[in-house]
Amino acid sequence: MYCPSCRTEYREGFTRCSDCGVELVNDLPLEQEPEYVDLVTIYKGNSNSAAVTSARLTSLGIESWIKDEGIQCVFPNLGPAEVQVCMQDKELTLQALGTTTTGAESLDEETV
Ligand SMILES: [Zn+2]
Repeated sequence: MYCPSCRTEYREGFTRCSDCGVELVNDLPLEQEPEYVDLVTIYKGNSNSAAVTSARLTSLGIESWIKDEGIQCVFPNLGPAEVQVCMQDKELTLQALGTTTTGAESLDEETV
């Protein structure tokens, strides 16, 4: 028997976790997978500009991840890196960065 909350194993006869007070289960559920997100690369460049782009997205409320190739470079901030965002944020991000790949020339943001 296992506590699904704290994952403590109990011997037969126990029905509740003495720590959590929750009912024990016969089998532990599988480790909860981290929420799966589809990431898309929206920027490729060096680590330095990737960090700038990522910070800009953060300031816009868009969560982003920097995928660093991890290549040891003479210039630590100039190694290749990519900025990735959730698939669902892709359009928003591209609009925010003004780099829509659809070839739209009329970016209203430009006039601000
Ligand atoms: Zn417990």
